[in-house]
Amino acid sequence: MFNTLTRQVEPFEPMEPGVVRMFVCGPTVYDRSHIGHAKTYTQFDLVARLLRKRGYAVTYVQNLTDIDDKIIRRAAELGVEAGELADRFVGSYLEDMAALGNTSVDRFLRATDHIKQIVAQIEQLIDRGHAYRLDDGWYFDLSTFPDYGKLSGRTEVKEEDAVSRVDENAGKRNAGDFALWKARKPGEPYWATELGEGRPGWHVEDTAITEAVFGPQYDLHGGAVDLIFPHHEAEIAQMEAASGKVPLVRYWMHTGLLRVEGRKMGKSLGNFQTIGEALAATDARTLRYAFLSHHYRSSMEINAAVLENSRGARRRVENFARLVDPAHADSPAAAELADRARAEFDARLDDDVDTPGALAVLFDYIRAQNRSGETPGRAAHEFLTDVEDLFGAFALDTAQAPDAVEIDQLLADRRALRAERRFAEADAIRDGLQARGISIEDTADGTRWWVGER
Ligand SMILES: [Zn+2]
Repeated sequence: MFNTLTRQVEPFEPMEPGVVRMFVCGPTVYDRSHIGHAKTYTQFDLVARLLRKRGYAVTYVQNLTDIDDKIIRRAAELGVEAGELADRFVGSYLEDMAALGNTSVDRFLRATDHIKQIVAQIEQLIDRGHAYRLDDGWYFDLSTFPDYGKLSGRTEVKEEDAVSRVDENAGKRNAGDFALWKARKPGEPYWATELGEGRPGWHVEDTAITEAVFGPQYDLHGGAVDLIFPHHEAEIAQMEAASGKVPLVRYWMHTGLLRVEGRKMGKSLGNFQTIGEALAATDARTLRYAFLSHHYRSSMEINAAVLENSRGARRRVENFARLVDPAHADSPAAAELADRARAEFDARLDDDVDTPGALAVLFDYIRAQNRSGETPGRAAHEFLTDVEDLFGAFALDTAQAPDAVEIDQLLADRRALRAERRFAEADAIRDGLQARGISIEDTADGTRWWVGER
């Protein structure tokens, strides 16, 4: 895995063998999420799926920044409460993620549910001499943390930093000092705490949440590349200064940026696209394929041609899947072809999550299998199932591969009918499943089903 902290590819060794504590910066919920978010979160979704596939017990946490200058400003523009606005966009973000098939996050945690932990962390920084108070709140004193800059290789904000959120106050000790706690301003939401009335700064939300869930150190932190400075640098400063433990995070992974029609996406540029708009124009699988067919670290371009190519590639896999008969006994040559392809596919993914490389292996395999003239059998079925577990980008509706969601729904319907003593209708569902080669068995724990005879 390429580690931004060391700028090299390293073996992945979590703190506790077999266990991965993973955090990715979630959105600031002041507006609908855009397709840049979709890229980042889809690529980290695959990372989490891959780690789980490799047998790690992964706890994947995302924060939701539900109190922030941007939220307060937008709420005022719209004439609603900040909390109400945040609730609305938390809802739309979670809907977008579900629609994209990003299912791997275990916990979404809101900043406003962690005010106590945020205040405690700031008090710790004050006690250790890393924070000072000005008229508009508490600031982190960068001169007390010589390691500042070790992630990004710099200590100063540059013109092009899109998401700096460094607060200005003439009384600051160092130009880059950032707000930990912002004193109450008229008309703004606030919490009455030991630090005075106010609200948290942006950076400290993440470290308070990760400290609450993981403790002062954990394995993997992700985010888009534009968050490295100053946001992730600030996270390191806060947590390492507060706890005295180094490093905050073992592996830092950063995704490249998304460009739309040749340019950085921006509301003022007229090329801004929300996830909802993108999903209305194309389908979720094609979008996932587009993101995952690029290496997570490279910046990528999205436009009509990229989406068209992605749709075509996705369909080539799906057309192949339709030929697969999982009941077909593979010849030794076909089994070996699949084994070799799977080993190479896994090796590509295990080399810094090389998804384009892995997909190239998949297409080579499909071509070779098609050339052999043999019906693709069980080995192909298992390979494709593995691919889909990770990519979530293909509709693998082989005639023989039943849709588990549909069958579970049918079984739930059957249970409901039996509870109402409508046995003839319940039996008709069972017979229909049997006609499709699916057997069922009622047990004390519910109904089991499988493909084939008992
Ligand atoms: Zn963050």
